[in-house]
This record gives sequence, structure tokens and C-alpha cells, in this order.
Amino acid sequence: MLECRNLVVNYESTPVLQNLSIYIDSGEIVALTGPSGAGKTTLLRCIAGLEIINAGSIWLNGDEITTRPAHLRRIGLVFQDNQLFPHLNVAENIAYSLKIHRVSKKLIDDKVAEVLDLVDLAHLADREVVRLSGGEAKRIAVARALVAQPEVLLLDEPLNGLDKELHARLLEDLGKLLRLRGTTTLHVTHDQDEAAKMADRVLDIRQLLS
Ligand code: ADP
Repeated sequence: MLECRNLVVNYESTPVLQNLSIYIDSGEIVALTGPSGAGKTTLLRCIAGLEIINAGSIWLNGDEITTRPAHLRRIGLVFQDNQLFPHLNVAENIAYSLKIHRVSKKLIDDKVAEVLDLVDLAHLADREVVRLSGGEAKRIAVARALVAQPEVLLLDEPLNGLDKELHARLLEDLGKLLRLRGTTTLHVTHDQDEAAKMADRVLDIRQLLS
């Protein structure tokens, strides 16, 4: 499970998150909606360990991780613009976090092959990422986030900017994939329809502030 208790984040003197609390059960997919500028991305950055928080605590499966460095949190993140490393090919992008953790080459090769299969793109392992289509790049970003078997997956408007048909297909595939793997997921989206289709529970960030 993932829990944030009474998180406070201020940028200089401007409050961005004021006493935000959220609880997500293991294996649950929660969609988070709410107006632009309400702090959704900031919350994801806090959970991922990329933001300085002024007060409150974050818990993962019973352990407090509030001050744990980002690379030790076992939290996967998919950004709106994917943020693939342009100088690495598909397989190298996916392998990156495993290499940092000094996983053996054999195990890296096995895990990369497994997630490439999962997103149906095994044939693109050697492709330069700048030569991927929008939908392919999105699948690779998801594969990269899942390869280290994160405890939690954070999705920040992951399907923005895709055409309607591709959006519908990826939404369905992503939902199936995350349910199959039982991945605890927090999915930020401004799209109510996407939220309802994807998630077990839909929350508005304004409900989480006290
Ligand atoms: P959302 O994802 O809901 O659109 P954000 O978390 O991106 O909201 O932003 C919340 C608020 O924090 C906004 O008012 C935004 O302008 C502000 N903000 C975000 N990042 C920074 C930053 N690095 N410095 C100052 N203000 C920021």
C-alpha cells in the first residue's frame, strides 16, 4: 500500500499542497483528477522522491520513505512526454535503471525481453528511440517504468496528445497490463472518461486536502 499523510509543499512562500492525505491499497489503480495547477504533478514528484516536502510523511508497505532517495524507492514513473533517453536505443533505455543497480547482464537481458514482450514490442529492441512512433514510445516508457518491478507506478497524464484511436487502444492495454501484474498505480489525468475507464477509484485532488 501507498500512503501520504498530511503532506505540505510550499514553493517559496506559496502553498502548493496543503495537508494532503491519500491511501492506495496494494494492487489498486487510483486515478487522480482536478484542475490544472492544483498540485497533481507535485504530489507524484513527492511520492517519487523528486520534491522537497515541508511537512507530512509518505509510507510504502508499512515503511516510512519520506526521506528515502528517489533511486531507492522502487517507484516507477511515466511522464506525459515519456522522457526517454535520446542517446540510448530501446533496450538500453529499458535496461538503464537495472544497470545503475548493478544487476547482472544475463538478468538484465531476461528482464528487458520480458517487458518488451509485455508491451508487444520485442521486435524494436535495437531501434533508436527517436525513430519510434508516438504509441511505440509510450509503450517503451511504460516498459521502462515496469522493468524493475516497482512497488508503485505513477502515471502523469501518460496518454495526452495521442489521437483518439491510439488513446483508446493504449488505455485498454495499459489497464489490462497493470491489472495482470497487480501493480499499485496512481494515474493523474484531466480526462474524466480516461479516469473512469482505467481506475478502480477516481479521486479529485481537492477531496484530499484538509
Ligand atoms: P497540476 O499537476 O495539478 O497541474 P502542479 O503540481 O504542476 O499542478 O503545480 C501546482 C502549482 O505549483 C502550480 O501553481 C504551479 O504553478 C506551481 N509550481 C509547480 N512547479 C513549480 C516550481 N518548480 N516552482 C514554483 N512553482 C511551481
